[in-house]
Amino acid sequence: MKKRFLAIAMAAVLAVSALGCGAQDSSKKDTSTKANKEETTSTNETDTKDGSKVYTIATDTTFAPFEFQNADGDYVGIDMDILEAVAKDQGFEYEVNAVGFDAALLAVEVGQADGVIAGMSITEERKNKFDFSDSYYSADVCMAVAEDSDITKYEDLKGKNVAIKTGTNGADFANSIKDEYGFTTTEFADSSNMYQDVQVGNSVACFEDYPVMAYAVQQGLNIKITDYREAGSDYGFAVSKGENAELLKMFNEGLANIKANGKFDEIVDKYTKK
Ligand code: GLN
Repeated sequence: MKKRFLAIAMAAVLAVSALGCGAQDSSKKDTSTKANKEETTSTNETDTKDGSKVYTIATDTTFAPFEFQNADGDYVGIDMDILEAVAKDQGFEYEVNAVGFDAALLAVEVGQADGVIAGMSITEERKNKFDFSDSYYSADVCMAVAEDSDITKYEDLKGKNVAIKTGTNGADFANSIKDEYGFTTTEFADSSNMYQDVQVGNSVACFEDYPVMAYAVQQGLNIKITDYREAGSDYGFAVSKGENAELLKMFNEGLANIKANGKFDEIVDKYTKK
């Protein structure tokens, strides 16, 4: 199975993404880094020599343990390994395009990518625009604060600023309670910049999926997870609504197969067990 990374011509997507956030968009940097290292192409209509399709799969830039760059600059993690195992099981080829969460969803919506796997929660609202695979993980949203912070509950956020990540469940949740609890929000395109805003004290808290925040803390990030958790959501692979039905079917079949043969558990354990 061939796996290539590409820096697709995503200028439009990135521009829209940049508009949607009040802060630095590091996905641009990551994409250009990739462009120097890997083969590039300007479209997702890539075919292999034998004429079979190479699917373009969009993902987040950094959402460990689901997708992140290892020391060699390759994208690894639960999502990346599941995708690789599913593609191998089903015999399809793909390229990964790590553009950031919001940009990844947009890339699929506008047809610049065939699918997205990015710790993406299956929500009723998103079902208007996407068809989702069976769920492969579930996660709560948690509130995290600086290590030395006294903030323990939503009431403590009054008059303060909170960092959120564009287009995520965590952002939706924070926005839904900000008037009630009297705080403001600043949006970031990626998790790293969101955490950093809390670390430097511009924001007093951020909202993030619990497994991702827990992994970051375990890796030494000096942020504290509060007891405040919000209703869990299930992660799914997604394609644009009504498009790429064969890819979705292959994903579901491959997922069922790797769950049955132990590969799925092996992948999750690799990234979640010390
Ligand atoms: N699970 C969250 C969502 O779907 C966050 C995903 C992410 O940041 N990659 O909104």
